[in-house]
Amino acid sequence: MPEDFYCDFALNNKIEVEKIKETEDVLAFYHTKPSYKIHIVVIPKLHIDNLNSVGDLEIIKEIFMVIKDVAEELNLKDFKVINNNGKYQDSKHLHFHVISDN
Ligand SMILES: [Zn+2]
Repeated sequence: MPEDFYCDFALNNKIEVEKIKETEDVLAFYHTKPSYKIHIVVIPKLHIDNLNSVGDLEIIKEIFMVIKDVAEELNLKDFKVINNNGKYQDSKHLHFHVISDN
């Protein structure tokens, strides 16, 4: 796994991802190697290292608006939103996993 899969592959189209929703600043797509029946990743399009690096909280608001929209679109009632930081981050680019086994 590269340090920043999202900037290095997903956002520059080196790897094609299956997009679910896209706004001006946020992209939601299906995880390329899902660990759950439903496994979505939601990221800011501009690079942010992790939650500790967020300056303007508007991006977090936009991310969660996208998460809510995606959950509604896919009719997800039971789901988890996970954000990892530091050593728990597989990719060093802020991202939120939306997972469900439903
Ligand atoms: Zn990045």
